[in-house]
Amino acid sequence: MLHGNPKDAAVQNDPNVTLITATAPVATTTHGGRAKCLQRLVRLDLPVPRTVALCFDTVKAIAAGGMPDLSAILGQFDDRALLCVRPSSEDPDWGGPGAVMSIGMSDGAHAALSDSLGPAAATALYLRFVQSYATHVARLDPDEFEHIDGTGPEALAAALDAYEDEADEPFPQDRGEQLAGVLRSMARAWDGTSARLLRQAKGAPAEAGLGLVVQEMIPGVGPGECGSGVIQLVNTVTGDKQVTGRYLRQSQGREALGDGSGSLYLASDSRGTALQDVAPEAFGALRDHAALMRRQLRAEMQVEFVIANGQVHILDGMRVPRSPRAAVKIAVRLAEEGIIPRQEALLRVEPHGLNELLHRQVDPEAERDLLATGIAASPGAATGRIVFTSADAQASAARGEACVLVRRETSPEDVRGMHAAAAVLTEKGGMTSHAAVIGRGLGLPCIVGVSDLRFQTRKKQITAPDGRILREGDLVTIDGTSGQVLAGEPAMLEAALDDSFRTLMGWADAERDIGIRANADTPADAQTARNFDAQGIGLCRTEHMFFETGRLTVMREMIFAQTPAGRAAVLERLLPMQRADFVQLFRIMEGQPVCIRLFDPPLHEFLPTNRAGQRDLADALNLPVSDVTRRADAMVEYNPMLGMRGVRLGVTVPEIYDMQARAIFEAAIEASRDGASVVPEIMIPLVSARREVELVKARIDAVAVAVRAEAGRDFDYRLGVMVETPRAALRAAEIAPHCAFLSFGTNDLTQMTYGLSRDDAGRFMSAYVQKGVFPEDPFHVLDTDGVGELLRLGVERGRGAHPGITLSVCGEHGGNPESIAFCRAAGFDYVSCSPFRVPVARLAAAQLAIRHKIGDSSADSPNI
Ligand code: PEP
Ligand code: MG
Repeated sequence: MLHGNPKDAAVQNDPNVTLITATAPVATTTHGGRAKCLQRLVRLDLPVPRTVALCFDTVKAIAAGGMPDLSAILGQFDDRALLCVRPSSEDPDWGGPGAVMSIGMSDGAHAALSDSLGPAAATALYLRFVQSYATHVARLDPDEFEHIDGTGPEALAAALDAYEDEADEPFPQDRGEQLAGVLRSMARAWDGTSARLLRQAKGAPAEAGLGLVVQEMIPGVGPGECGSGVIQLVNTVTGDKQVTGRYLRQSQGREALGDGSGSLYLASDSRGTALQDVAPEAFGALRDHAALMRRQLRAEMQVEFVIANGQVHILDGMRVPRSPRAAVKIAVRLAEEGIIPRQEALLRVEPHGLNELLHRQVDPEAERDLLATGIAASPGAATGRIVFTSADAQASAARGEACVLVRRETSPEDVRGMHAAAAVLTEKGGMTSHAAVIGRGLGLPCIVGVSDLRFQTRKKQITAPDGRILREGDLVTIDGTSGQVLAGEPAMLEAALDDSFRTLMGWADAERDIGIRANADTPADAQTARNFDAQGIGLCRTEHMFFETGRLTVMREMIFAQTPAGRAAVLERLLPMQRADFVQLFRIMEGQPVCIRLFDPPLHEFLPTNRAGQRDLADALNLPVSDVTRRADAMVEYNPMLGMRGVRLGVTVPEIYDMQARAIFEAAIEASRDGASVVPEIMIPLVSARREVELVKARIDAVAVAVRAEAGRDFDYRLGVMVETPRAALRAAEIAPHCAFLSFGTNDLTQMTYGLSRDDAGRFMSAYVQKGVFPEDPFHVLDTDGVGELLRLGVERGRGAHPGITLSVCGEHGGNPESIAFCRAAGFDYVSCSPFRVPVARLAAAQLAIRHKIGDSSADSPNI
């Protein structure tokens, strides 16, 4: 229907107005994705109505007050044709103003259409156009038009009168005047501040252009089988093959998708009448067209169509909107069918979206009763009854009842409660505070830093900003993916680690060129790391091994011991526990590297904070509670995160690291005896000076010599240093020669570079990000300028002094796609992140490698 029109040549000479033909100069970068897609449909010989495209420059000029030669546009269409204008931005995700239909509707057109379509259909069309023009183009008060009831002649007269009253002029009758108004309003809407901000938030550049397409309308109303609808060949939520969509007889645009009843299913369906039943031929044609588009446009498409007197017309096609799990399934199936290459399938899945597959999620279609929003610290969603203490969480789990643990902040004493809870909510904290780190490790949905909610934990209640009070036992849902705290129990979608996911991950591993390990502290974590195919453990925080109640008391006894003999006795008890832990980890990891960090306690996390903890410790130490309280008070530090932590403890109380080194070596011997040979990695935390490394290394080497002699077995090990103080990064050249690897702890490095407490920053972080002080929470997305500069210096100086050294990042940033890009470019060998982030990291790393191989611009090019 687009061929052989004598006007075609003339219009192609007007640079502002391009008739879309198979060969017209139309490009996504100049006319937008919709215009380009329509051209592709024309090339496929699909029945597309005549369409004219206006390029970005033309639309920009319209917004500035210019207007292209309207006769060049109108001349392309039959004088009586109604027109529709739709936006065509470069990337459909950037949005754009809504489409305006039925341009050209006037008293004269109404009379003519009353003859051809019947008066009722013509009147309804005219009425809808007046309403839409009044509110979207003339910008009149929508209230004046919304209250008009019915679709008959009285309603039309009322709408025309309301227009005249409000606009002080009659409704425009001239098609050119109407079209000019529509083009102007759409161009200006794109230029408005809120539209700019919205699309920039979706990644659009500040100067992103808008194209417009003007299309002849095919009426979906009139005699014979007439109507409009939308069809796609997959399910948007699951990605399964399924003819989906709706068709509404005697309708225009997307009315079939509206909430009004009466729309038909497409394929025959036991729930009701379907297009396939009433117009099998049209349905067959439609399904064939959609399949052709899928194959040739190399994407699952949502197709907008009209049936006019039994004939199918294709108005538009866009990529099917999809949930992340559908995105994986669709990309893998297209690659498996040979429609797209594997590399492209990998590029089509958004790494962050994988979180939705790895965890239960709130169904995207469920209603959300929002109570408050905090920092989305650990993804996934869970519903449970509110409890305010760890003990209650455990009691709840024992009853088989899901609960949400609500705390001001969490400490090691809460870890058992966290294990028992379905989700965790804290008032304080940020991305790397205790609750966040443990939550991610356990794969437990967690929201921290919810300062909007008033926490009254003693009264066992929290108050939402809208005044709603939630008490113990009330049902809430924690959406750790979005940071939303929801009232009640919205519908959920289960995790979906299906075959498509595994296939995609396998393809990712074949492409990527940076290693991905997991941070894992417990056998359960290690098993998760294995399930997600991590290439080893990059950080085992040994202090987390002591968070269990039985062990916590022993650990406290050790910290409280005042004499070397007393300490030695407690360490004797700790040694077999640690050895057993390490044997398990080594066995689970089956010869893959396991990097064990020596004890790095912020001491405050181990001091008993409540009466019960103090009483337990008093029992264990056989001391009065008052003694324990006094000693605990004496050990309190003003700034525990900068206090007796990490290697400082190792230097001042070296027996602790001796015990750990012995446990690691003995476990390595034991695990190697009946399994793959283990070469343990031992890491010294919070180093800031070379001498610290020398002191610890000398003792660990001595322990190795002793264990070798006692066991009569040889073994290898690798000693490394955690670079997490700015000084260690700056002095990497003198530290690197003493170790086999440097692992950069970007949590502490961020904290110390900014002088920003990782536990308290949540309070003001959102204000800081909102006001543009920080582009993002630097505990979440690596600050590549400041912290990044230290990392670059550390890499350069460390590798310069020790060329064969292994370099890695084990802070939380290791699982963040943007940060992985930095790490890869800076030359790190691997990143290590929470087990549940491993798949996200694997995909992000694969995408980086692919983009590098094929060049950014081709990787970014839109697929349709
Ligand atoms: C770090 O500081 O980046 C790190 C990994 O250690 P932690 O979070 O245990 O302090
Ligand atoms: Mg640290």
